[in-house]
Amino acid sequence: MARAVMPLSVPPALRTMIDTHCHLDQPVFATDREAVLARSRQAGVREWVVPAIRLEDFPNLVALRAPSLHIALGLHPLFTPSHPADGVARLAQWVERCRPIAMGEIGLDALASHATQPLQQALFDAQLDLARQMRLPLLLHVRKAHDAVLARLRQTAFPYGGIVHAFSGSLQQAHSYIRMGFCLGMGGVVTHAQAVRVRHVAGAVPASSLVLESDAPDLPPSGHRGERNEPCHLPLVVQALSALRQSSPAEIQSITSHNARLVLGLPEKDQN
Ligand SMILES: [Zn+2]
Repeated sequence: MARAVMPLSVPPALRTMIDTHCHLDQPVFATDREAVLARSRQAGVREWVVPAIRLEDFPNLVALRAPSLHIALGLHPLFTPSHPADGVARLAQWVERCRPIAMGEIGLDALASHATQPLQQALFDAQLDLARQMRLPLLLHVRKAHDAVLARLRQTAFPYGGIVHAFSGSLQQAHSYIRMGFCLGMGGVVTHAQAVRVRHVAGAVPASSLVLESDAPDLPPSGHRGERNEPCHLPLVVQALSALRQSSPAEIQSITSHNARLVLGLPEKDQN
């Protein structure tokens, strides 16, 4: 009897998912990070992007870097009052030395205290400049400030794109980001039936603009409210996207991984 021919490629259903936004460096994962990663791999999520929040986290974050665990460096807008005055200069040194895959997470958050808005804008502008110098895509945190961020991206003709993490804007804003080379991060929010606007956007934008993210430990999916979120829950996000877009879960896994690699400049990997 002839031996079975080995398939040339692994079927798309077994494609590795990439969690494009998870804070695995944070203290809440300090005691069981290996178990979190093991559960994630088991669920098919075998590559992670961990964005930075504050300068003081950088040493720990950089130490976590591995072939499948990529890091981004940046100063988070929600912590604007606590970033040091020379924060961006120090960030520049870290970026020069460590060569992260993206600058993040950076952005504007209009839900934060009003008093921080001018400083947030200055911090965002400075980091946008730095990302351009270093030719890095962005991991954007934007709440109720999409038009301001889009205006800045347009004014500066920012050429390296990136990901709008936990996208929360309108369909029109989504299309504006997509035209400028950005993908939209989809996470636990799309699994909640009451998230009508995000679910509408998730179903309506081109498949080439979607990437997966957990935002662990935050934004847990439906059925896990109140729990610490983990990357192993991404299949629930895939399921929701699959229903919203009438695509198979395998197609969603495949296209979102491909999009993430493209927008972040990650090499295609052998499937494992
Ligand atoms: Zn985040």
